[in-house]
Amino acid sequence: RNHGNHVASVSQLARFLAEHAEEGGAAILPETDAQKLLVADGRVRGIRTGDKGRGRDGQELGNFEAGSDIVARLTVLAEGTQGHLTGAAISRFGLEGDNPQVWALGVKEVWKVAKPLHHIVHTMGWPLRKRARYGEFGGSFIYPMGEDMVSLGFVAGLEYRDVEFSVHDVLQEFKTHRLVRKILAGGERIGWGAKTITEGGYHALPKRFNAPGLLLVGEGAGLVNVPTLKGIHYAVESGILAAEAAFRALQRGESTTRVGALDSYDEALRSSYAMKELREVRNMRQVFDKGFFMGGALASAMTVSKGHLPPKEYGGEPNDAATLIRTDRAKSYPAPDGKLTFDKLSSVFLSGNRTRDDQPNHIRIQREVPRELAELWTRMCPAHVYEVGADTGDGKVHVELNPSNCVQCGAITARGGRLTPPEGGSGPEYTLT
Ligand SMILES: Cc1cc2nc3c(=O)[nH]c(=O)nc-3n(C[C@H](O)[C@H](O)[C@H](O)COP(=O)(O)OP(=O)(O)OC[C@H]3O[C@@H](n4cnc5c(N)ncnc54)[C@H](O)[C@@H]3O)c2cc1C
Ligand code: SF4
Repeated sequence: RNHGNHVASVSQLARFLAEHAEEGGAAILPETDAQKLLVADGRVRGIRTGDKGRGRDGQELGNFEAGSDIVARLTVLAEGTQGHLTGAAISRFGLEGDNPQVWALGVKEVWKVAKPLHHIVHTMGWPLRKRARYGEFGGSFIYPMGEDMVSLGFVAGLEYRDVEFSVHDVLQEFKTHRLVRKILAGGERIGWGAKTITEGGYHALPKRFNAPGLLLVGEGAGLVNVPTLKGIHYAVESGILAAEAAFRALQRGESTTRVGALDSYDEALRSSYAMKELREVRNMRQVFDKGFFMGGALASAMTVSKGHLPPKEYGGEPNDAATLIRTDRAKSYPAPDGKLTFDKLSSVFLSGNRTRDDQPNHIRIQREVPRELAELWTRMCPAHVYEVGADTGDGKVHVELNPSNCVQCGAITARGGRLTPPEGGSGPEYTLT
């Protein structure tokens, strides 16, 4: 149930919170990326910011500005989904959880509508295929935003198997359903965005949420409730608990880089309402690997028993574990008409993407791969960054890249490549999503 909840644009909420943080004395460095975690003697010392003003081959341009080290007694990583430094910290300090972390990709649009929507819509399944062999899991949301806007999106797990699967196109297909058409009739699309959402849940949480000199908070630490598709409240709660733990340690005159000095954060988080909720739904995501109907039945048992049934724990596989298949999936995608359905490039334009064309490439992938993998990346990317290039002659193809289209959704990190932090200030300029 979402009755009584507020519906807001998270980018506007973040701007509002930033103003309050500055009023409270915080210094905010906008348009600055944290490129590297500074670790010395097994302790986190801060972060290094990225250079600005480099050309495509890394050469210094006229406006070049070197990155700098920001050292601190305590570093809190709050990078959200697919955190680059968070991933490095988890691996450096051996914090990996029991299950591998997994992600879904969400593509979202904001529409100005002719008639107000007065209720919330959540769906599961269609246009996804229900049989387990396709590995398609996900659903949609449609939220009213005031009297004249709606926010709608489709979220699908990134473990799908079909090389032609594309969440952007599935959202376009979803909008052709007569009930969705009715909501959007006479309206205009005014916003678009794409982002992964962390879906591993309780069993994929890091072993510890702290290391010497470091705290992990929010979605970067895996704190997302998958059945409700919500992570903002856990990000806020973990941020508060991290601030309180840091304050306690500093007030005691403790060295925050001493092993165990920040354990009170873990204790507070583990006894919080967030962890109780995550524990109740800990197996909910994994059971859908058995297909829509079996997964639905098991998930219902978990919901009514508050996580006690069935009495077993479920493991998980990484998103890229399954072998790829091809089943003409793309045939069902509607052709873009520029009114109800849209292509990827016009969508990237609507995201206000500010990445320079001559910026260094921030996507790490193998450039020569089997054709199926190149096609999977091409379809998967909501921003049309990858293209299947020429045959290399040994059964592989070259992958062409347009990194300046990238909206930093993070999907590539789940499927065999890596999104690294691009130059600060680049990427989409979300204002409504
Ligand atoms: C389609 C979709 C719909 C969702 N719907 C809901 C919903 O209805 N309700 C809900 O509660 N949750 C929802 N979520 C989840 C929710 O958005 C996140 O869980 C939440 O925003 C996480 O907050 P956070 O502060 O941890 O991270 P984020 O909000 O992701 O913030 C992290 C910030 O850090 C920046 N960053 C990352 N790495 C670096 C770096 N190295 N250097 C500098 N900056 C960096 C990022 O650009 C970002 O601005 C949804 C997610 C998706 C994808
Ligand atoms: S290139 Fe960017 S937008 Fe495309 S899948 Fe990778 S991270 Fe997402």
